Amino acid sequence: MKAIIDPLAGFCRGVNRAISLVERTLEEGKPLAVKGELIHNRLEVERLYRLGLVPIEHLGEADGRSVLVRTHGEEAGFFARAGKYNVDYLDATCPKVMRSQKVIRRAHDEGKQIIIAGHLNHPEVIALQGHCDNAAIVVNQEDTSAAIDPQRPALLIAQTTVKPEIFIQWQNKLKNTVKDLEIFDSRCSFVTRRGEQLTEFAREHPAIVFVGGKHSSNSNMLYAVCRQVNSNTIFIEDETELDPGWFNQFHQVGISGSASTPMWLLKKVAEAIESFALKQI
Ligand code: SF4
Repeated sequence: MKAIIDPLAGFCRGVNRAISLVERTLEEGKPLAVKGELIHNRLEVERLYRLGLVPIEHLGEADGRSVLVRTHGEEAGFFARAGKYNVDYLDATCPKVMRSQKVIRRAHDEGKQIIIAGHLNHPEVIALQGHCDNAAIVVNQEDTSAAIDPQRPALLIAQTTVKPEIFIQWQNKLKNTVKDLEIFDSRCSFVTRRGEQLTEFAREHPAIVFVGGKHSSNSNMLYAVCRQVNSNTIFIEDETELDPGWFNQFHQVGISGSASTPMWLLKKVAEAIESFALKQI
């Protein structure tokens, strides 16, 4: 049995940029801390902690270290507090997220209602809220349209990793109700493209092992894409979750992951799967 790694899998540009920044800074011997989970992949995060990255809860714990701003970004108040605590920061906010923050600030200054299609508690959305005085209305699958004033101009924007159908659903709904609606499609093209690429990959293989963080919205979305076209799809965080017996029925397995799944982990999973086959010889 062969385990084929998706050639298009691996970190997106934003995550790659953030991880390279951490590695470079630590290699130079500069102490570095991060507030919150750097990316939604526990194993990669633990690797970076072993290299010397220190997790902290708030800026007061920086203790002379620089603090990394994650790809999800931070709310405007973070930068003011960094000044107050005299903390240096390294900004790894993904440029795509930065663009959303800028658009939100501008629309908020123009007096528009800010409507974000996304998840209320997602760090990116929490950070976006901080760029409009926490006045944004976050919409998802539930009908929260009652909070939206159809008479006031509004901006509809998306969490970069939101499911396309959610954004499209709200676009259609608000176009017909809000009088003066600006729509800014801030979905990440890497994520939307990955959906199409993964659909093809999942069709080409008898079974798919999707590797990613279970609480990563990008992982859950891409896993759902695979599962939709190939019911023989499993979702794991690492190779310890694999059941050797499940692979007996397949001659080949495709392995893929999300924007925050490191290539080293995909290789480890592929090696584990191929070792099950060897044990049966
Ligand atoms: S998924 Fe897209 S928006 Fe998010 S960090 Fe990666 S490149 Fe940036």
